[in-house]
This record gives sequence, C-alpha cells and structure tokens, in this order.
Amino acid sequence: MKITDHIKNAASKTLFSFELLPPIKGQSIQGIFNAIDPLMEFNPPFIDVTYLREDYIYKQHANGLLEKVAYRKRPSTVATCAAIMNKYKVDAVPHLLCGGFTKEETENALIDMQFLGIDNVLLLRGDARKSDSSFIPTPDGHAYASELVQHVANMNRGQYLHDDMANEKTDFCIGVAGYPEKHFESPNLDTDFKHLKHKVDMGAEFIVTQMFFDNKAYAAFVEKCRSNGINVPIIPGLKPITSSKQLVSLPKIFHLDIPLELTEAIQACKSEKEVKEVGIEWMINQCKELKAMGAPVLHFYTMGNPEPTKKIAQGVF
Ligand code: FAD
Repeated sequence: MKITDHIKNAASKTLFSFELLPPIKGQSIQGIFNAIDPLMEFNPPFIDVTYLREDYIYKQHANGLLEKVAYRKRPSTVATCAAIMNKYKVDAVPHLLCGGFTKEETENALIDMQFLGIDNVLLLRGDARKSDSSFIPTPDGHAYASELVQHVANMNRGQYLHDDMANEKTDFCIGVAGYPEKHFESPNLDTDFKHLKHKVDMGAEFIVTQMFFDNKAYAAFVEKCRSNGINVPIIPGLKPITSSKQLVSLPKIFHLDIPLELTEAIQACKSEKEVKEVGIEWMINQCKELKAMGAPVLHFYTMGNPEPTKKIAQGVF
C-alpha cells in the first residue's frame, strides 16, 4: 500500500516506522530480521531500506602496486525489501539514488521493484563517495533527486526512456528528503527550499526529513512548506543520541545543530550508559511533542540497532 494511503487510513493517528541498512556482503538476512523483530509490536506499516553506493578500495598486489577497485559493501537493498515484505507482510521502501546508476539501470531497477510488489520508493541524490570530495553523477545518470523524481513520475505515466517500450504504467508513491536545517551544499535555506518544491512539483508525494533535535526546526520547516504550497505529508526522521562522541559526529556528518540544553545534559553525564539514557529521554519528549503537533509518522533511523528505538516507542506509543 502507498505510504500516503497508510497515512490517510490512520486518520490523524501518528504511525511508527523505521529504516535500516541492508546486510554487508557475505552476511545473512537473519541479521536484518533480528533488527526488525523487537520493533514489530509497534505495528510499522512500512520499513525503509537504505541504499549504499559503490566506493573505491585499494587492493595491494604481490609486486606492491595498488589497484583501485569499485566495491559495493551492502549490495542488496531491493532483495532485502522483498525478504522483509515476504516475512512480515508490511511495506518495504527501498531508497534509490542518482549516484551509481545510469538512467537505464535506474529504470531496470524500478521495473524489478514493480514486479516485486513494491509500492513506495524514496528517491535521493546520494552523497559523495568517500574517495571523492564532492558528489559526481554517474555518466548518463541523474545529477539531482528532482531528475530521478521526474523519471519515476514519467514511468507512472507510462513513459519509459525508449520510445519503443510498451507503455505499462508503474504506480509508485514517491518520497524525497527534506532538510529542516538546510542541506549542507545549499547556499541558504530558501534556495534549498526552491529545490525541495521542485521535487514535489515533479511528483513527490511525501517528504522524510533529516534528523533534528529541536522540534522548532521541524515546526518552522512544515510552516514554510505549507506557505510555499507544499502540501504533502512531512515525516520527521529521528535518531536518539546514544554516545557522547555523537555530539561531534552528528553535526559533522549531518550538518545539524544539537540544542545547548541537550549538549549540556550529555556533557554532565558520568558514563556512556547515562548518555544513552539522556539521549533516549530527550527523544521520548521530542516524540510526544511531535505527536501532539500532528506529525503523520515518527520515522526512526535505527542503523540496524533496534534497542534505543524500542525504548523510545515504548515511551511514546
Ligand atoms: P537533492 O534534492 O538533489 O539536493 C542536493 C543538493 O543540491 C541540495 O543542496 C539542493 O539544494 C541542491 N539542488 C537540488 N536541485 C538542484 C538544481 N537543479 N540545481 C542546483 N542545485 C540543486 N544517502 C544515501 O547514500 N543512501 C540512502 O539510503 C540515503 N537515505 C536518506 C534518507 C533521508 C530521509 C535523508 C534525509 C537523506 C538520505 N541520504 C541517503 C542522504 C542524501 O543522499 C544526501 O543528503 C544527499 O547529499 C542529498 O540528497 P537529496 O536527495 O536531498 O539531493
């Protein structure tokens, strides 16, 4: 079922959902099931599976020379979605990136998804590979998420890349990313907003936000969306702080602010166990407020570790 229909059917009740990473190459699918099982009691109508682009690794040969080799560490997003749908009878939402795909490969992946009964896709540009200093589109691939949205919206209208294709219409519900505190490459919030609006105008039907720790950022973002004619559901993406190192790593990786009150509470902790408790408590309060504000879904970035999310869900749902 489409995420927009799950939200409609919930009739203003806030839903619970989460995302996880596909298995590392060589690991079994059981690890994914172990990360899902503890969270099923909260009835997620959908579970997201992230996509990881290829990166380069250096292989050393016997003669000492290094060879640069492209390598995908977690190659099975779509298959992981199919396994989740098969086992849990919930919708699984694959993330699909511009980076790492030609347009042709994108289209073929989407046809596979349609045949597997996948109804929703989250379309993203993707970040730069670790080995690159900025995002480099794949030759003959898409450069921005809006182009990917347009591609899927065309398929939903029965328009494929090549004119001689039969024109069976796909029926994907399209989601995109939004940044309450601005995407880090954008010169300002308004420019970023213009690009977000473009994604919605091209056919995006829901937005999932980057994580944030101050609900005022989400409220202002929703308000700005509504006053700019963006009327699709805006799903807050959430992750609790679970270690003191994250006071540095989260702002560095995700370009977000951690409120002073939360920062000071974490700095005052005597142990990492205490940090986790403070982070979870903060998130429970944030979630209760988001529910009261009418957030359609609380969507957790679990990174494959269900325990903190479980504690939060127990405190909120
Ligand atoms: P875009 O919407 O294309 O925007 C990228 C930047 O370009 C922004 O600064 C925007 O303002 C600017 N821009 C957009 N259009 C134009 C234009 N026409 N001209 C000039 N500038 C423009 N990454 C992964 O690798 N795998 C994942 O599974 C994944 N899942 C994510 C899920 C969520 C909910 C979020 C919030 C992020 C996720 N990411 C993931 C990270 C995401 O790929 C990065 O944040 C990436 O840098 C931007 O992706 P985007 O889709 O927002 O890009």
